[in-house]
Amino acid sequence: MALQPSIMIVGGGIGGLFAANALIAHGLRVSVYEQAPNLGEIGAGVFLTPNSVRHLDRVGLGPAVEKWGARVGASSRYFRHDGAPIAPVQVTDSSGWNATFGMHRADFVGLLAAALPPGVVRTGHRCTGFEQDANSARVTFENGAVAEADIVIAADGIHSELRQYVAPPSRPVFHGSVAYRGLVPREQMPHWPANCWQMWLGNSKHFLVFPVRAGELINYVGFVPADQEMKESWSAPGNPDVLRAEFAGWDPRIEDLLSKVEKTFRWALYDREPLPTWTKGKLTLLGDAAHPMLPHLGQGANQSIEDGMALATILARADRQTAPAALAVYERLRRERVAAVQKGARENGMRYDSSSSYADLGVRDAEITAHASFRRRLYDHDVVPEAQAAAMELA
Ligand SMILES: Cc1cc2nc3c(=O)[nH]c(=O)nc-3n(C[C@H](O)[C@H](O)[C@H](O)COP(=O)(O)OP(=O)(O)OC[C@H]3O[C@@H](n4cnc5c(N)ncnc54)[C@H](O)[C@@H]3O)c2cc1C
Repeated sequence: MALQPSIMIVGGGIGGLFAANALIAHGLRVSVYEQAPNLGEIGAGVFLTPNSVRHLDRVGLGPAVEKWGARVGASSRYFRHDGAPIAPVQVTDSSGWNATFGMHRADFVGLLAAALPPGVVRTGHRCTGFEQDANSARVTFENGAVAEADIVIAADGIHSELRQYVAPPSRPVFHGSVAYRGLVPREQMPHWPANCWQMWLGNSKHFLVFPVRAGELINYVGFVPADQEMKESWSAPGNPDVLRAEFAGWDPRIEDLLSKVEKTFRWALYDREPLPTWTKGKLTLLGDAAHPMLPHLGQGANQSIEDGMALATILARADRQTAPAALAVYERLRRERVAAVQKGARENGMRYDSSSSYADLGVRDAEITAHASFRRRLYDHDVVPEAQAAAMELA
């Protein structure tokens, strides 16, 4: 349709690439500009939950997710640090949940990019400026290029260059902890279960394991307290011996897994307070650019997928004139839910790391068990019907 808006996405991470797939699936014209010379991701896992897997299915990515992901099943569980079971983790359900998957981040970025028509993604374009007027929005790049579109979606991550054109300046919030992340080939741990998500909770620390790449790799994340020196260190190689020392004396299964670790990365944990606004005229924010969150609900990538699906559903009903209003509708739809998830991730992190503040650990374990109802609401949520209803405002 000639009157449909042209759309530019800045940032070719998980959020930007999924949004491109969703917009194209809705018949819209899209270009993606990514700063890196090649698309890629660091070697670590991302956990995909039913609230985003249903959208991956809808845009035709279900078979690729099934191929590259590792389906996680009913034996998923929380443990105390010594291996005593706390509660099952509900990852399957017969009423509308398709599946949950562990996924290698590079595999995920690769399958999202492979599904796009040739020429949609332009790498080597680092955005450095933005302006808009009544006719169009223009983005300038470090390499001297200038690109124009009716709508610009900033999916350029927690350090977003484009955020300044939408919201007042703010600083990311450091949460005093760091995640050690890495992968162990399953052939080195053949007895390790290939189909479950498992988390161990201890004093100020927790340890998470789930499979990726069709179960060939075991992804681990060890969360430990970090001092202020780490504050400016966003991600850096870590020392496997320090990681082993952090979890010495925990469940022997963790010690066994960590004995195989040769390389690990440290990732200091940041989020932001919810922004007062995500949209200005023809520019809106998506994913970590809009709402970076702590990983304690495993929702940063999943929420960016919900953002992309909501935006595509609403923009598909807009024309060039109503497209800015469509962005405002998207923001109104998403901001409250995402702020609740950001808050929930902070609260869950405190719950995971707080065993020293419970006189009776049974109380903590009961809270962990009861938290299943929050996850159920999170995973049950389908952003499409509410985006369709919200888009009626544009008519
Ligand atoms: C320890 C840890 C574990 C996590 N686990 C999970 C999990 O299990 N499940 C989950 O859902 N989420 C998880 N997350 C969160 C998740 O990784 C992020 O929320 C998600 O990757 C955000 O995607 P994004 O596309 O918005 O941003 P990013 O992935 O940061 O992508 C931004 C892209 O924009 C590009 N870019 C940046 N600036 C520019 C510019 N000026 N011009 C052009 N391009 C630019 C970057 O190069 C990058 O490709 C985890 C995070 C951490 C730290």
